[in-house]
Amino acid sequence: MLYSELANTFDKLEKTGSRLEMTATFSEFFKTVNAEDIRNIVYLSQGKLHPDFYPQELGMADKLVLGAISSTSGIPESVTEAAWIKKGDPGAVAEEFIGIKKQMTLFSESLTLDRVVKNLLLIENSEGRDSQDKKMKYLSQLLHDSTPIEARYLCRIVTGRMRVGAGSMTILDALADAFATKEDRPEIERAFNITCDLGLVAETISVGGINAIKQMQVTVGNPIKVMLAERLPSIAQIIERMGGKCAMEYKYDGIRIQAHISKNSVKLYSRRLEDLTSNFPDVAASLRAQCRVEEAIIEGECVAIDRKTGEMLPFQTVTHRRKKHGMKEAIKEFPVKIFMFDILYADGIDMTLYPFVERRIKLIETFDLSENVKKLHLLENIKKLNLPEDVKKLYLSEDIEKSNFPENAKESNLSEQIDLTTMKIIESPEEGEAFFNEAISARCEGIMAKSIYQDSVYRAGSRGFLWIKYKKDYEASLTDSFDLAVVGAFYGMGKRAGKYGALLMAAFDAESGKFCTVCKLGTGFDDAFLEELPKMLDKYLSETKPQLVDAEMVPDVWFQPTIVLEVVAAEISISPIHTAAIGLVSDDAGLGLRFPRFTGCVRTDKGPEQCTTVNEIFEMYELQGKKDTHLTEQ
Ligand code: ATP
Repeated sequence: MLYSELANTFDKLEKTGSRLEMTATFSEFFKTVNAEDIRNIVYLSQGKLHPDFYPQELGMADKLVLGAISSTSGIPESVTEAAWIKKGDPGAVAEEFIGIKKQMTLFSESLTLDRVVKNLLLIENSEGRDSQDKKMKYLSQLLHDSTPIEARYLCRIVTGRMRVGAGSMTILDALADAFATKEDRPEIERAFNITCDLGLVAETISVGGINAIKQMQVTVGNPIKVMLAERLPSIAQIIERMGGKCAMEYKYDGIRIQAHISKNSVKLYSRRLEDLTSNFPDVAASLRAQCRVEEAIIEGECVAIDRKTGEMLPFQTVTHRRKKHGMKEAIKEFPVKIFMFDILYADGIDMTLYPFVERRIKLIETFDLSENVKKLHLLENIKKLNLPEDVKKLYLSEDIEKSNFPENAKESNLSEQIDLTTMKIIESPEEGEAFFNEAISARCEGIMAKSIYQDSVYRAGSRGFLWIKYKKDYEASLTDSFDLAVVGAFYGMGKRAGKYGALLMAAFDAESGKFCTVCKLGTGFDDAFLEELPKMLDKYLSETKPQLVDAEMVPDVWFQPTIVLEVVAAEISISPIHTAAIGLVSDDAGLGLRFPRFTGCVRTDKGPEQCTTVNEIFEMYELQGKKDTHLTEQ
């Protein structure tokens, strides 16, 4: 296949405003391509060569790309760099200067998709001292034979910033449209949620149709999209919503880890699908050592522990484990513990299809844990549960030794790093309040309530009321904190002159795939952070409003939504200048945050699509009213 077909499709997508049109463009294109190409096409549409969880990235620095453009076009680097400063996009620079070069060259070979992928792989795998030169050489070879439009997208692919707006949801819509029906869309999304590999899903459906998609399974090594919690404004409302009875667990303040345990290795993934194994090698080793089965996928929260007192420390401490160097020292200096809360797979069984209680029991069964841990987590709770009869028989044995549990390993061999989340079956608001206070005393953020009924399966990639969170913050302010994407900046005045003084922040609208503004944020920044801001943000500068951003307010500079900051606010109110939830509360106004303040936390564990959603903000807005009533009632 010629690479020009793909580049022309990207060009068409970029000029398209609506998600519907983009879906139609993709769908038409998918129908024309060979099954062996579709996987690469999908990855390249997102500026990648592999699925999101693949550890290596193309990630060429802009300066290196400018070097390749200069060496191919013969235009001096000072000129390409000046154009880049103006346009903020190496793709646009390549298009301009490769275009000039083309007018002077009579012959060049047409690029095929295979040749592009081959050279991109060479770029990705270039290592060692002369790796930068090699990367430039492989890119130059491609640029030499490119048309201006092809050059635009080559340079965007190698920097990982495509700007064509090809979100995963649009691609899934297009796959349904091209190879199945609208009704099959949930099955296709499920396949993506349990594999996190859009290319694999595309290839599977184009070869085997919807039946092959239905047969896709949870696999060790393919991260599963995490299940998320809804929120309610009081414990009483949570218990009512849960049908009068639920499991409550401490909500630990750490990093969520999904561990993929196989016979001889363990991989730890963050909820952004980054491979964190090298940050927590001690946790990985303990999980393997205490796991009784050959293969399992579990989830837990990794929390930093005070070396002297053994108490849990706040989220920021565990992030010290994310640095690239000095990991040996960091392991000693910042000990961590994993509190496991779910199991998604165990030796051939897809546990995501089982109700919460059965998963919890399987989790306990699957690990060597001390007798105390088992007793605490099992007997006390299980007696209170509405378990199916066959499960009850197994687990309600008075004598735990004779139950379904295999002999435990010697207690002395059990690492202190592995534990289960503290959990209790709760049957009244009073019990719930007491458990919440206990969680706060143990330095947790709050509680997670989990449904214990038969339909409480693990819903990969979805946020719903099977899990409901309640945090200490909800008591102080009317709303939860928000994780928002930076989409623009305003230059400061006075002390902040010449620097970014305020940021335009947006929530993610999962329906439209767009980022809708909710506030202008200028409070909570210290001097050091203001200094850091350009370094953090300027890589994502955009000359015009990015296609994925829905905004009325116009900042001094725009950014592609990438960096996520945690923000608190006094209240959510109707706003004529912000675009989140326009149409839901009023036809011509959206929702905005009043008195927003940066908490100091950059959510490096979240990507822009994992931001607080517009839907959540709308729900919180509605809950505000209910919380007011609740408070006045008391
Ligand atoms: P937050 O910013 O409050 O952590 P979130 O948007 O990251 O919220 P939520 O679904 O709202 O995610 O809250 C669940 C998060 O809480 C999980 O992603 C996990 O990291 C953490 N967590 C801590 N303790 C538990 C637990 N016992 N069960 C499930 N998740 C837990």
